[in-house]
Amino acid sequence: MKRIKLHWWIILGMSIGAALGTLVHSAYPADIVETTAIYQAFKGISVIFLNLLKMIVIPLVFFSLISGMLGMGTLARLGRIGVRTFLLYITTSLLAIITGLVLVNSIRPGVGLDVAIPVEVVAREVPGSFWDVIANMIPENVVRAAAEFDLFGVIVFALLFGGFMLALEGEKKKTMVSFVEGAFDVMMRMTGFIIALAPVGIAALIARLVSSTGLNVFLDLKWYVVTVFSALGVHLLITLPLLVFLVTRRNPYRFLRAMSPALLTGFSTASSSGTLPITLERAEHGAGISNRVASFVLPLGATINMDGTALYEIVSVLFIAQLHAGIDPSFTLSFGQQLMIVFLGLAVSIGAAGIPHAGLVMMVIILQAVGLPMEYTALIWAVDRVLDMCRTAVNIASDSCITLIVAHTEGQVDESVLWDRSAA
Ligand code: ASP
Repeated sequence: MKRIKLHWWIILGMSIGAALGTLVHSAYPADIVETTAIYQAFKGISVIFLNLLKMIVIPLVFFSLISGMLGMGTLARLGRIGVRTFLLYITTSLLAIITGLVLVNSIRPGVGLDVAIPVEVVAREVPGSFWDVIANMIPENVVRAAAEFDLFGVIVFALLFGGFMLALEGEKKKTMVSFVEGAFDVMMRMTGFIIALAPVGIAALIARLVSSTGLNVFLDLKWYVVTVFSALGVHLLITLPLLVFLVTRRNPYRFLRAMSPALLTGFSTASSSGTLPITLERAEHGAGISNRVASFVLPLGATINMDGTALYEIVSVLFIAQLHAGIDPSFTLSFGQQLMIVFLGLAVSIGAAGIPHAGLVMMVIILQAVGLPMEYTALIWAVDRVLDMCRTAVNIASDSCITLIVAHTEGQVDESVLWDRSAA
């Protein structure tokens, strides 16, 4: 019998989750649904799945980055791949921003919209200034960074650690290398085990979400939601595939299908950092990308490369600006301010953590910079979960595509895993 592919199991899980969630949502009144035993079961199972994923992320990122760096062999090669990765990451984020700009200016979802700004602002964390965000990238205490799931801090430490490890010599180097490689292997095996649970975990996540919100939360803001969806769709289905095809001459959709368990997990968890174990596993075993490239490029991508988030920042801030101009006709955005929105959108997407709602929380920085009231974020908070799910999947797709491109240019793709048609 042909084995059913993991992504089909996950899609089945999502459908069952959505169906169960809809049933529960219609069976109980909104104010008590979260106290019901069935909701608690959805919640329990989804938290177990999320915790399992989160539990391995920090050690996995640490060992994976160092083992990737060791795999590169020399600092010169590492530097070359590092620079190439970074440039590609910035390029795709800018392409995503341009897509967002074009669509938000043509659909103009905020023009003529009659919605009251919620007076009550949802209590939420307000990030510091731009420089605070940059300075905080260097962790003052690496153990605390790990404990607080500050992935960026852990990466900074791992990069330094790996760099200096490369400079070791003799016995010491050998011992450290075999330790790191062994530890990384253990982490990947743990990942394989957790992935097997993904369909159930994802079913529970979707069931939980749908039971409490229902499927029709976004009617008021439908054009805004449509704009974000379409822009994300263009980026995922046209821009990224085109880039992959132009550089590698490989079939991008075939690649995205192989990566789909990671995209679907990203969609369900709204966390690209949390999904990283699955992204790494798929890149290697699903698409044949060498471990040394994937284990270096993907963790970086999960923290600094967020095309979906960059695009979402631009669309949302301009949507708010359109809305605000309807209320206060004297409000306009100068060319300089629009450039600033683009620049800050990119910066926020680099600085935002790969966790749920990070993009929305960070948007406050841009709103403040161009003098728009923060209160508007409360308005889009209601629909953020679904948008977050979609932008996270796009974030992961972009990390994966760039990893394939870098691996291709370095001759680091195992053709027999996905690309060898004669073997299929
Ligand atoms: N949830 C997104 C991610 O993990 C970040 C965001 O909120 O935009 O990739």
